[in-house]
Amino acid sequence: DPYRIAIVGRPNVGKSTLLNRLFGSRVSIVEPTAGVTRDRIGVRVELPCYNRTRVVEVIDTGGIGIVDRHDLGPHVEEQVRVATMAADLILFMVDVRDGVTPLDVEVARRLRGLSKPVQLVCNKADTEKFNWEVDAFRRLGIVGEPIAISAQNGDGMVALVERINELL
Ligand code: GDP
Ligand code: MG
Repeated sequence: DPYRIAIVGRPNVGKSTLLNRLFGSRVSIVEPTAGVTRDRIGVRVELPCYNRTRVVEVIDTGGIGIVDRHDLGPHVEEQVRVATMAADLILFMVDVRDGVTPLDVEVARRLRGLSKPVQLVCNKADTEKFNWEVDAFRRLGIVGEPIAISAQNGDGMVALVERINELL
């Protein structure tokens, strides 16, 4: 079985954009995983790994469940549940422009309880002035160095792929 990476985070932080940026041109198979079809959408992709590639399955948990605009709690709960169950590595995504939100705190609280590696990914750092904003997210209590990226313009992608390879 390939390693599984789940992207977790509240709506609009850029989960789908990251998936497309990282893997858009390298997606080989798109399939709901048999048996747990209703629980997750896995995309099988080739991740650059040093001078080769390795196949991983990426789960964009944002595609799971129904988003109720008035109550985001159950949506996030479902993401974390699926990630817990299915993933070998969790990418926890936040938005540097919004700073730490209550929902980020809630997701972090749930992720801290897991015995799986979690990488904090601070997205929308489109310009260098946003890089220092990353420090504010340390209070989420996620182990390890946060990574600043711009899923939109591609900044930080090389560092992110390197980190993923270290953690898997
Ligand atoms: P998701 O709900 O977490 O899957 O978020 P999406 O990938 O749908 O992105 C939500 C919005 O944020 C879209 O309008 C994206 O174009 C925008 N977005 C995503 N990544 C970035 C980024 O790195 N910088 C900026 N400025 N906007 C971004
Ligand atoms: Mg999405």
